[in-house]
Amino acid sequence: MSDEFLEALSRATLRASVGIGSIDVDGRWLACNPALCDLFGVARGDVSATVPGDLPDLFEGEHRQTVLDALEGLRRGRRKADVRDLQCRRPDGRVAQLRLDLSVIGEREEAAPEALLVLIEDITAANRIQRELETSEVRLRSVIRAMADGVLLIGADRKVELANDRAAELLDRSLDTLRASSLNDFNDLEFLDASGRTLAQEERPVARTVLTRQPQRDVPLGLRDRNGSVRWIEISTEVIELQGTDQPYSVVATFSDITRRYNAERQLRDREEQFSLVMEGAKLGFWDWDLESGEFAFSDTAAERLGYSPDDVAPHRDALLDLVHPEDRQALIERWAAHLEGTKRDFQMDVRLQRKSGGYDWRLVRGRVVRRNEKDEPSRMAGTVMDIGERKQLEARLQELATTDGLTGAFNRRHGQERLEAEVDQSHRLGHPVGFVLLDIDHFKQVNDRFGHGVGDRILQRVSSLLRDRVRRTDTVSRWGGEEFAMVLPGTDAAGAAGFAQNVLDGMAVIETPDGVPLSASLGAVSLRKDETATELVRRADRLMYRAKQSGRARVEVELDH
Ligand code: GH3
Ligand code: MG
Ligand code: MG
Repeated sequence: MSDEFLEALSRATLRASVGIGSIDVDGRWLACNPALCDLFGVARGDVSATVPGDLPDLFEGEHRQTVLDALEGLRRGRRKADVRDLQCRRPDGRVAQLRLDLSVIGEREEAAPEALLVLIEDITAANRIQRELETSEVRLRSVIRAMADGVLLIGADRKVELANDRAAELLDRSLDTLRASSLNDFNDLEFLDASGRTLAQEERPVARTVLTRQPQRDVPLGLRDRNGSVRWIEISTEVIELQGTDQPYSVVATFSDITRRYNAERQLRDREEQFSLVMEGAKLGFWDWDLESGEFAFSDTAAERLGYSPDDVAPHRDALLDLVHPEDRQALIERWAAHLEGTKRDFQMDVRLQRKSGGYDWRLVRGRVVRRNEKDEPSRMAGTVMDIGERKQLEARLQELATTDGLTGAFNRRHGQERLEAEVDQSHRLGHPVGFVLLDIDHFKQVNDRFGHGVGDRILQRVSSLLRDRVRRTDTVSRWGGEEFAMVLPGTDAAGAAGFAQNVLDGMAVIETPDGVPLSASLGAVSLRKDETATELVRRADRLMYRAKQSGRARVEVELDH
């Protein structure tokens, strides 16, 4: 060895952080560097002066014995001893973990060595870190094991590096099988997306992340088991890589069972769909009014049925009121208020709502208070809007059926009578005249007898048309009996009624029996007298008509004296 080399070695020894020294085979110190002095907490300087005792004396109990054993081994011809887990108490009382490395200096193998090289390293910190790492890994593993979510770590080689019980359970295989799997071993499983479509291998979230490094978040995934039933999981994936490197990376996937939630959500969706179908079928829309925020929701269906797009109707109650026919609006507002104030239990009303195209449609608007605030004031109201166009048509038709005569289309006697009484009342109040004319077809029995009932019916229809053509809009023509008709003529005095009757009689001639004989009738024309009742008025008209029959038929009888 050259002097320079020895020089350099000694400088390196002086600066080294590892304790370096030499001893004889009995453990007596020959030399020692500053790091070694530091290790035992003694002043740097001459080794024999500063390190008290021999090497074994630095240790106690079993540790001292270990060192003695190592020295004995070296005395007996071993060349090296590497002792770990040595402990020594430092002068400050701290126990240090040391690693001791002894080796023979020199080459004489047969004889006992003269000197030994001593390397001592304080591994207290390294041991602690190692222990901490081990503890935290154990902790992490037990956390992962206990997790309610399935966890799967796929290495860069696509093999499963870590899996927990839950993952095994959710993927329906044993933990051991799962831990020995690689990504390809999942190819036989069928995964579905939210719409129920089977995913191709590369579309699966884990594969996707493995291929693209893109993490996936909360992806619902259906997993069909051997029996064909589907378990729904929600999966998220993450890439684990050394930052800023292109190194191979692992993928961690966590997933949880959402079957119950998923099915519940789907059921809810189905219900909502059913509900809206029912609403649609029942021609029902609904509204919801938050009285505190003022927000008013008018359902899309309700808006659409009137030809509006949902955005056309602003979310305020006034927007609905604006659609209400002016004649219905005030009454609706009042009923609504009456319900809110509690004076009326029910809130419902038939109203006409304006279509976007302009016309009006009948709707039944109903609802009730569904929530109250702490002061017991209504805070929310909700209800329905029902299309009642058909009902209204039916009502109108029923009204028509109830008031008209089926054969002739004229009003029936009851309605004629009602109209007459109403006009008589009004005339007594307001003083305007009311004319009344009774008509009985002459020899009608013979028409039936000679040409049959069908011909008679058609003649009755023609007479009815004739009469209805000749009256004013405010007049009422009703079938008073078999071949008798009555006309109520508001605003018409006796002369006017007589003129009307004559006009009708002239028109009757146009209607002929099948053998060409013109039709005629006997008529009584009157107008209401002061203080006269409807019954008295009818009786007078009836008497005049009878007189017309007596006087040879085909004529009008009137009383012009009043
Ligand atoms: P007059 O009034 O001139 O004295 O003679 P008439 O033949 O009209 O006499 P009457 O009033 O007694 O007869 C009325 C007839 O009207 C009897 C009935 O057959 C006929 N009649 C009543 N209702 C109907 C009906 O709905 N259809 C037809 N075809 N005939 C009817
Ligand atoms: Mg008659
Ligand atoms: Mg007659």
